[in-house]
Amino acid sequence: MNTETTRVLSAMCPNGRLHLGHYLGVLQNWQQIQYQYNCFFMIADIHGLIRYNNDNQQPIDTINEMVIDWLAAGVDPSQAIMFIQSKVPEHFELSSLLSVITPLGWLERIPSYKEALEELEHTNSNSYGLLGAPVLQSADILLYNAHYVITGEEQSANIELTRDIARRFNHLYGREEGFEDKATLTIKKLGTKKAALYTKLLLKYQQDGNEDALDTARYLLQDALNLSHGDRERLSAFLENKGKVFLQEPQILAGGSTRIIGTDGNPMSITRNNTINIRETPDNVAIKIRSMTTDPARVRRSDPGTPSDCPVWSLHQIYTTQEIKEWVEMGCLSAGIGCLDCKQPLIDAINLQQQNLIEKAKPYQEDSTLVKRILSDGCGRAREIANNNLKLIKHAMNIDY
Ligand code: SF4
Repeated sequence: MNTETTRVLSAMCPNGRLHLGHYLGVLQNWQQIQYQYNCFFMIADIHGLIRYNNDNQQPIDTINEMVIDWLAAGVDPSQAIMFIQSKVPEHFELSSLLSVITPLGWLERIPSYKEALEELEHTNSNSYGLLGAPVLQSADILLYNAHYVITGEEQSANIELTRDIARRFNHLYGREEGFEDKATLTIKKLGTKKAALYTKLLLKYQQDGNEDALDTARYLLQDALNLSHGDRERLSAFLENKGKVFLQEPQILAGGSTRIIGTDGNPMSITRNNTINIRETPDNVAIKIRSMTTDPARVRRSDPGTPSDCPVWSLHQIYTTQEIKEWVEMGCLSAGIGCLDCKQPLIDAINLQQQNLIEKAKPYQEDSTLVKRILSDGCGRAREIANNNLKLIKHAMNIDY
């Protein structure tokens, strides 16, 4: 198990089979960072329910297939905690608590909410769940005090909201009763000279924003060996005009998505039905690539094409060697090769990668108890951490009776 203390949370909704975009954009990244950070990889089934209303699917089948894809891609349950959101009810409890301090206006301004409303315009599916989803997402992150979240650029407003909620929570509940009085008494413990210096530096920082004064005051507190940990923490918070930090403000860690073009020339996505799935059979890969959209100006075999106008070329950029790319470029521009010729080395390269994933998935497909055990273990570990953090949060809110 990775013992790094920097925590990272990332999640996927189980709303269909994962595709090459997930593999290249997310899973390869997860496979690497699981060795650098304390990673929590969440199956966001409730977000899936809110956002996609998975009416025609058996969620558990989708979840199993998704986890097999994760494992095949090298995500290792001995390194990262893999868990299902709905199996850790603390998420919903924290979401309710955070909703108390989240102004409605913050949620109504979130771009993803507005976009979802536009998408759902004709389905009459606007719901409280949709509006509140960013609060649930904040709870997902803050419950584990994640330092980083891996997510796409389109989610940056949601993560900003999470930071706002954390800041507001810390501001409202991070100050113990009589904080100023206690801080004033604690300053005296520094001794006359150091207390006077601390007060001078505090004013310099708080009134003039002098960062050097802040740094010097921090050193002063570090050197004050007669202070207890709690005293030092209190004076640090007093210095920065902050209370105790209960909830960590998360940052975005790059690597949330890679744009890959789908078979119809649009970005690959489950909703567009233009995907090449992870562990797709070789025959299916061949069928999908052979029918893939090409440069629209190349109507006949004898017409020269322009690779930069062709979606197939964008996949060549990812999958094939420099030598093949040069062959494609020359052959396309001169009409020396046909589109089916061009697609064949791409099919071979994708299938080579897929073969590896198919092999790695086999043990989990053959023994269904393996995935069950991994998820049960992951949910148990996530729940233990979530429960401990929730207790601290409820204590801060004075509702731990
Ligand atoms: S030869 Fe290749 S790059 Fe050129 S249009 Fe056909 S598929 Fe696209």
